[in-house]
Amino acid sequence: MERESKRTDSHCAAFDVVNSFSTFSASAAVREGPTLNSLHTFTEEEEMFRESVGKYAQEYLKPLVRDMDEKECMTPEVIQSFFDNGLMGLETSEELGGAGASFTSAIIAVEELAKVDASASVAVDVHNTLVNTTLRHHATQAQKEKYLSRLATDTVGSFCLTEASSGSDAFALKTRAEKKGDYYLLNGTKMWITNSGEAGTFLVFANTDPSKGYKGISCFIVEKDMGVQIAKKEKKLGIRSSSTCELAFDNIKVPEANVLGEIGKGYKYAIEILNEGRIGIAAQMLGIAQGAFDEVLPYTYQRKQFGQAIGDFQGMQFQFAETAIEIEAARLLTYNAARLKEEGRPFMYEAAMAKFFASKVAESTTAKAVGWAGGVGFTRDLLLEKFYRDCKIGAIYEGTSNIQLQTIAKGLKARYA
Ligand SMILES: Cc1cc2nc3c(=O)[nH]c(=O)nc-3n(C[C@H](O)[C@H](O)[C@H](O)COP(=O)(O)OP(=O)(O)OC[C@H]3O[C@@H](n4cnc5c(N)ncnc54)[C@H](O)[C@@H]3O)c2cc1C
Repeated sequence: MERESKRTDSHCAAFDVVNSFSTFSASAAVREGPTLNSLHTFTEEEEMFRESVGKYAQEYLKPLVRDMDEKECMTPEVIQSFFDNGLMGLETSEELGGAGASFTSAIIAVEELAKVDASASVAVDVHNTLVNTTLRHHATQAQKEKYLSRLATDTVGSFCLTEASSGSDAFALKTRAEKKGDYYLLNGTKMWITNSGEAGTFLVFANTDPSKGYKGISCFIVEKDMGVQIAKKEKKLGIRSSSTCELAFDNIKVPEANVLGEIGKGYKYAIEILNEGRIGIAAQMLGIAQGAFDEVLPYTYQRKQFGQAIGDFQGMQFQFAETAIEIEAARLLTYNAARLKEEGRPFMYEAAMAKFFASKVAESTTAKAVGWAGGVGFTRDLLLEKFYRDCKIGAIYEGTSNIQLQTIAKGLKARYA
């Protein structure tokens, strides 16, 4: 993939000076192969996404965030605004009503939203990186035309894998889909399903042949009107305006035409998509860390104690500097995993590292940010306490931190054992 070079004049000047002292011949200095860019180099499209989503988040979303958190509910107007601003079909083709953007653009959108509200960020993230992407990869043309276009324009999507007895061990799921002529009869329950309070389209993983174990798992496109019931809405520590519900499927008839991909390949699709989805969660955590940092630092330069700004004490400054390094490291891991994925190269370990590390950095940054603001940080006058609560989920969903470590450790063993 070609990216535009954004080298600044000062970089060019430095490059010229180095060249003038170089003892290498001009031909030896010419590097063959792909253009090398820093992880801060973005295409024009990606820059545009960052600017427009950032503006939307800061100007439209931010004033609404506290109230939605208190009410533990995302307003229909905010959900409509996701559609109106092209956030629900980020990578969906323009013919189907989407933005036709790159994966990195989607990651940037998730990050920018999380700087203001982790709930809005996960709503958009799950809808795009899990639901839309699974459909883009595995749906028939007819399914794409029917569902991806709705998902880009007016219907929220949910990804339904987890159950009460199958969390980290996701493929021990018990939901069954029994073939009956030209439809499947779906029975079971799902837990912790993001967006399910608002969703109209559900990707449901169910076992069509339990005798085959996890190789009997298949994926179905289920519409709310087919009979999906919301059994319970969870009350949570953080991301409180993002709906997380328990769902019940009681003898739901799902037409055969709504099987997604191949029967028995559901486990493969889930593994594949969650590897990719983890980059989205890393971006969400990166956004939370940056959002808390951006919120607290100006406060520390205004607040005076002992006759000076608290941000000017060296004891504070060194903490700021260390935190900035950690956020930058999380950013580079996240962007690197996104670029690898986009270049079609292996990215599973890098995605696990990015999610694990960005979750950690979000936890430590938000905890410090609350402390740096003193008593005010502990109140709801600022958004700091919300960032602190919201980030805890990063180490839990789409594979807990232990599961990320397990993935990374497997890779190490394959390399060294
Ligand atoms: C707010 C929220 C939103 C969610 N959204 C969705 C969604 O949209 N769709 C969906 O399908 N799911 C969703 N989930 C489910 C989520 O992915 C699971 O909660 C997660 O995978 C962990 O499963 P569990 O909660 O059953 O924890 P458990 O699997 O019971 O884990 C509990 C603890 O045991 C540890 N543990 C488990 N196995 C191992 C092991 N082998 N080695 C070491 N440690 C281990 C874990 O790391 C963890 O610390 C969501 C969850 C939450 C809380």
